[in-house]
Amino acid sequence: MAEPTPTASPEPIPSRDEAPYRVSTIERVTPSIVEVWLRPLGEPMGFLPGEYVLLEDSDRRVAPRSYSIANAPRPDGEISLLVTRVAEGATSSWVHDRLRTGDEVILTGPYGTFVADPSRTSPCLYLAAGSGLAPIRALIEASLKTTPQGSLTLVLSARTEADVLDRDRLLGWQAEHPRFRFIATLTRAAGAGPRQRVPDLLPDICPRLAGHEVFMAGSPGFVLACAAAAETLGAAREQVHTEPFFVEPQPWSGPPPASG
Ligand SMILES: Cc1cc2nc3c(=O)[nH]c(=O)nc-3n(C[C@H](O)[C@H](O)[C@H](O)COP(=O)(O)OP(=O)(O)OC[C@H]3O[C@@H](n4cnc5c(N)ncnc54)[C@H](O)[C@@H]3O)c2cc1C
Repeated sequence: MAEPTPTASPEPIPSRDEAPYRVSTIERVTPSIVEVWLRPLGEPMGFLPGEYVLLEDSDRRVAPRSYSIANAPRPDGEISLLVTRVAEGATSSWVHDRLRTGDEVILTGPYGTFVADPSRTSPCLYLAAGSGLAPIRALIEASLKTTPQGSLTLVLSARTEADVLDRDRLLGWQAEHPRFRFIATLTRAAGAGPRQRVPDLLPDICPRLAGHEVFMAGSPGFVLACAAAAETLGAAREQVHTEPFFVEPQPWSGPPPASG
């Protein structure tokens, strides 16, 4: 049988869930984190609070990386991302050093299972470290807007006072909503509040977690330690929701490793 005639390689077909956005603001919010607000250039991406997107440059020179959306859906479709600088990290360095207001980027998504059931009114405990606040901020913002009951407690871990992300906004929410409590704990410096790792602090803050929904996001080590602590304090496994910010595999581009 004759081989099929090769055809010219087709243009890449844009995926249905890709969307162009423009940077409306980019601002350093802690020594290691920038917040990027992105405005949709076409149809805004629909998403649930807690989901994440892949971010890349419009020329596709930078590896796409996952970033959690840091806000609840808004009528203008804008999306906020909180990006931590990773030493030698390709995409986070591009965001920190090269991305500017007015630049176009591509988002793909949304993805993820780190979402809340809006019909639930159980008390919620949120545990975040660094930019792990991103999906948690989206979940809390949505819950304060839409769910009338249930206490919400956020414990945010940061190295020093300067690393406490979004303190003013979180204190503002606490003043406005008596059911929301915000606790910052510092791991590398003294401050006004506690100075402990989150898993060590939990027994003092929430000694009984049975019946709670517990959400945790940040580095894999942080999430793993918090999940173990939450279960020890009685949280049911199906009510422990985790979003570990693992480092994605590097594309393999070098020569094959020598065998033998
Ligand atoms: C679901 C999910 C949500 C996430 N949400 C967020 C978020 O909201 N905010 C956030 O800041 N991050 C988030 N992340 C992490 C993010 O996706 C990236 O992993 C992170 O920004 C690092 O990407 P990078 O391209 O800068 O680093 P990479 O280039 O991927 O490098 C990562 C590390 O690998 C090392 N490395 C790179 N190349 C090599 C090599 N050839 N050999 C050895 N080591 C190497 C680097 O030194 C660096 O330490 C999330 C991850 C996941 C999975």
